[in-house]
Amino acid sequence: MVKPGIIYHRDTRGNEGFFNEEEMIREGRFEEMFKVGLLKTPFCHTLHYGTSVFEGVRAVPDINNGKLYIITFDKHLDRLMNSMEYLYLTKPEDIELTEKDLKFLDMTKEEISDTIIETVRANILVGYYTKEQGCYIRPIAYRDDIFDENGQHNPSLGVYSLKHDVVFEIMSFFWEKYVDEPEVSIYQESIESPLRHIKAGANYGFGGRCKNWARIHGFEEAILIDTEQNVLEGSGENLFIFKDGEIITPKLNQSILPGTKRNLVMQIAKNLSMDIVERKIPLEEFLEAESAAFSGTATGFEGVKSAYNPQAGAIKEFNLEHKLLKQLAKEYDNLIEGGEVDERNKELQEEARTEVPFSF
Ligand code: PMP
Repeated sequence: MVKPGIIYHRDTRGNEGFFNEEEMIREGRFEEMFKVGLLKTPFCHTLHYGTSVFEGVRAVPDINNGKLYIITFDKHLDRLMNSMEYLYLTKPEDIELTEKDLKFLDMTKEEISDTIIETVRANILVGYYTKEQGCYIRPIAYRDDIFDENGQHNPSLGVYSLKHDVVFEIMSFFWEKYVDEPEVSIYQESIESPLRHIKAGANYGFGGRCKNWARIHGFEEAILIDTEQNVLEGSGENLFIFKDGEIITPKLNQSILPGTKRNLVMQIAKNLSMDIVERKIPLEEFLEAESAAFSGTATGFEGVKSAYNPQAGAIKEFNLEHKLLKQLAKEYDNLIEGGEVDERNKELQEEARTEVPFSF
């Protein structure tokens, strides 16, 4: 279970700061929480219409020097800025806005970066997790409610949301590996949507159905497919297959999230002169692959144990001992944990890790 810790909260009503949610709940400070926006009304826009975007970031302790490093931080920040822009949570550039009282989050990439680091430091300082454990970090931005200039609640329902307050929050906690050599199932309904290129809460409507469907049927994860029956990704991971010495992953113009770890895995593989290609993977090809793997911040680079194909009622067992898969997974772990990597990945290791400074 995740323990609520220090949460950073900022909104277009003017509230801003670090809040100890656990303490506030324990002390029954619900009125204060409501004022600040940590408690919601049923009119919160994102509850109805999924107007949220978020990130999943990890800080990993170095196995040698004990320091804490955020992995592919810059890529997460860029994707978050892009996701916010796509859903108009931040002000669109080069458009003259004629309507009044529109609300946008006004935070630069640097401010977001600084507050993420501060949130991690604050949680470690009060002991919600230790530097040695490392942590998961969840920044989220969403459309909330409408309050007028006197702070009066002025609820409104309807899809249009540019007059709703925007909230930006950061949660951070210790989180174990998300999936471990999963047994997966193909989810048979297909999806194609431009929204899947950003990390929008709304994506986890369909993705969430697929994940729950998989769990109900005794699998760990679902594989999503498109209308042409190409495999896309898991509900929370990018997908790779291994076949005839090649590593193959779906292309970014398909309905997949441009995963930060997908990108990292590809860079690692290229540096090692492995044969890695981005292209469509038809379902039949996936089911005939030698091995398959997931990538993701919460997951790491993880072999897939087996895949159930409901159409044929058959289970495909993948080879978890595949040489290329093992080599890539080991290099990935070493790279993010500060272990010894191949000479050709040293620069990438440097680039992919941002130290969380500690000088309390
Ligand atoms: N696809 C989906 C749908 C996801 O939710 C995630 C997790 N963020 C990923 C892929 C992997 O992305 P990343 O490597 O940036 O964690």
